[in-house]
Amino acid sequence: MLAYQHAYHAGNFADVHKHLAVFAVLRHLLRKPSPVTYVDTHAGRGLYPLDATETQRLKEYRQGVASLWSMREHLADDPLLGPWCEQLAAAQAASRLSHYPGSPWWLSQACRAQDRLDVYELHPGEAGHLESQALPAQARRLHTDGLAGLRTSLPPATPRLCVLIDPSYELKQEYLDVAETLQAVAAKVRHAIVLIWYPLLPSGRHHELLDAVRRSGVRKVWRSEVQLHPRGDAAHGMYGSGMLIFNPPWGVDTQLDDSLARVVRCLGDTAMHTSQWWVPE
Ligand code: SAM
Repeated sequence: MLAYQHAYHAGNFADVHKHLAVFAVLRHLLRKPSPVTYVDTHAGRGLYPLDATETQRLKEYRQGVASLWSMREHLADDPLLGPWCEQLAAAQAASRLSHYPGSPWWLSQACRAQDRLDVYELHPGEAGHLESQALPAQARRLHTDGLAGLRTSLPPATPRLCVLIDPSYELKQEYLDVAETLQAVAAKVRHAIVLIWYPLLPSGRHHELLDAVRRSGVRKVWRSEVQLHPRGDAAHGMYGSGMLIFNPPWGVDTQLDDSLARVVRCLGDTAMHTSQWWVPE
């Protein structure tokens, strides 16, 4: 049985990294009226009250969204961080930071009448929370395996496709399953944009994913990693957050490089961002 609950980690530095990348891609997609199908293969709850018991246990949001929120006036001139903070403010009930919005919320903000949104959540408890979150009328909540569901739903009915793959990696097999899914999506929808999140753990298991993506023959993958600390030992758990973006829209790589350089300065002295074209054209 799955045990992971994202509420324990909501708003941490990895969420900021992931949702900033999602936001950068969404802004590009919104430039054209052509319809988009958005797919969130591992959705979680949708909106996380920061005062929830689970979130208060680790308070990871403090070295994450709260660090940026406290600096938002200084970040307002950044072409990505300025609008990202504004959108984050729209998720708050009042002027203080009380909630952190998860991926279904960020995708919902970009979902226009002509677009579609499929959100997958397998955990019955998490799916129950997601049920109570407002989503656009055309959104489909699917209580089934997200990677399998995505693969069977291809090709989409719309000309464009944007997928977020954000598993909990509770099962070691998931690293390879994600790489296989990327290969399958790329084969069926060559122009799809796929964002994949992965943790940087002392075990280095994410290399299974990276190596498999390299071997798969998929081209045009940009890799971005935010490290909170230098690689530690097992006692220190996750030390960084990684993203692969397949087919990033033009300019998203340099825009994220610039904005994440500012993000890591807010996160602490040991934080750093690195990026590279993992598999070039
Ligand atoms: N994407 C969310 C966000 O950015 O706000 C966080 C998702 S969390 C890292 C991973 C979620 O995937 C958990 O809620 C977990 O219950 C769910 N999950 C685990 N295995 C799944 C599967 N095979 N299919 C769909 N959801 C799954």
